[in-house]
Amino acid sequence: MPNRNKTIAIVNGTGRQAASVIRAVTAVGYAVRAQVHSIEGLVAEELADLPNVSLFEGPLLNNQVLIDTIFEGAQIAFINTNPLGGDEIKIGKALANAAKKRNIQHFIYSSMPDHSIHNPRWPALPLWACKFTVENYIRQLGLPATFVYAGIYNNNFTSLPYPLFCMDFKDDGTLEWRAPFHPDTKLPWLDAEHDVGPAVLQIFKDGPGKWNGHRIALAFEMLSPIQVCQAFEKALERPCKYVFQKRIEVKVPIPNGYREQLAGIEILFGEYNAPYFPGPDFEYDIRRKGSNDTITGRSSNEASRKTKAGKLTDEARSLWPPYRSIYEYAKEAFVIEEEANGKTWMI
Ligand code: NAD
Repeated sequence: MPNRNKTIAIVNGTGRQAASVIRAVTAVGYAVRAQVHSIEGLVAEELADLPNVSLFEGPLLNNQVLIDTIFEGAQIAFINTNPLGGDEIKIGKALANAAKKRNIQHFIYSSMPDHSIHNPRWPALPLWACKFTVENYIRQLGLPATFVYAGIYNNNFTSLPYPLFCMDFKDDGTLEWRAPFHPDTKLPWLDAEHDVGPAVLQIFKDGPGKWNGHRIALAFEMLSPIQVCQAFEKALERPCKYVFQKRIEVKVPIPNGYREQLAGIEILFGEYNAPYFPGPDFEYDIRRKGSNDTITGRSSNEASRKTKAGKLTDEARSLWPPYRSIYEYAKEAFVIEEEANGKTWMI
């Protein structure tokens, strides 16, 4: 029986974040009104079969009718826009305006940082900074809102030749990951399909009384590239090597704007070794092993500033303790995804 006070407006419904939210919230009786790019395909069909889910197909850009439709009768919202849908600032602001008009009681927005505001030498990553602009707009509107920052998805990894997270199977059966992340710098990791939904559900249950205005890192593990390779090595029982490479190889066609994003990543992480999530909300009392301020571009003042006790993963883990680790992902899910991609290395 749906709770009539709990209808959630969602966009990019078949995306990994939103689909995870839809699975989690419908399991406990919430109703969902979700925009999707297409109602065809495995995920859309699976979601359409869940109880109390209404899917609305169409683009969000310049589509006020569709935006108003998804907020109709909704009290809360989970909003994660997608660059494939077009101008994320325009879409994000239109969604926030619609939420304000509807008096949405809790707006959870999937944001990302603009590094350039933290250090003049750091570039703003175009596909992230636009989300930060929308975050600021939401704050200005005074919507009761919480801002989740998604870590790097475990299932970005694939042996397909996509840039940045290609886990390459070499002819001798070993694995190799090449990327411009410094080998010993810890990065935040998230199993989007497994863990976004339950964590976001808990944020809704806690409500804006607890989380209004907060930035929450949706990251359950902090692991360096070398540690990630160790997890894959153990899970797949074959050697896995990490190679630090400043230039990202692009071997396949990529969506518009992604090349600029990759160029920014090369500078931000490859050159400056910047923190993945910058700023005081994400600065915890952890020591960065092997940090070198000349390379990182952080002043000694910045490097030694410690504003919060604990670990970056604490909030996510307290929201949803049974998260899926990257080891577990590699052992259980990666193999299935690879099989679905027609790979045969596991046979
Ligand atoms: P996703 O990448 O899993 O899904 C993309 C969706 O886009 C699919 O459901 C598909 O139906 C839809 N789509 C395909 N073509 C489209 C089009 N032309 N117009 C609109 N939609 C189209 O989605 P996600 O991962 O839930 O969300 C993506 C966002 O998450 C991005 O903004 C990305 O920057 C952000 N993010 C990703 C990571 C990561 O590690 N991958 C980490 C943090 C944030």
